[in-house]
Amino acid sequence: MSTEELCPLCERPLAEPMVKHHLIPPSKGGKDMPTVVLHKICQEKINAVFELMEQKRYYHTMERIMENEEMQKFVKWLKKKDPEFYEKTKSKK
Ligand SMILES: [Zn+2]
Repeated sequence: MSTEELCPLCERPLAEPMVKHHLIPPSKGGKDMPTVVLHKICQEKINAVFELMEQKRYYHTMERIMENEEMQKFVKWLKKKDPEFYEKTKSKK
């Protein structure tokens, strides 16, 4: 994996742990739809903030995800961390 690649969510260099994120959740018909590679912590944040149906209906582009205020705060906070930084996302559900 090249270090040139950036996470499309937080725009920091990609580093482990990272995951393939389905823009449309596979369980909502997105199995064969485009995926992006994100930091694990970035994907968990998306899944903590948006329900799967919301991801399918609207929040399936990084631009739309970043319209959310909580996501903006998260990325602002995350930008100060190392690319390898990971901690388990606390779910509000
Ligand atoms: Zn990221």
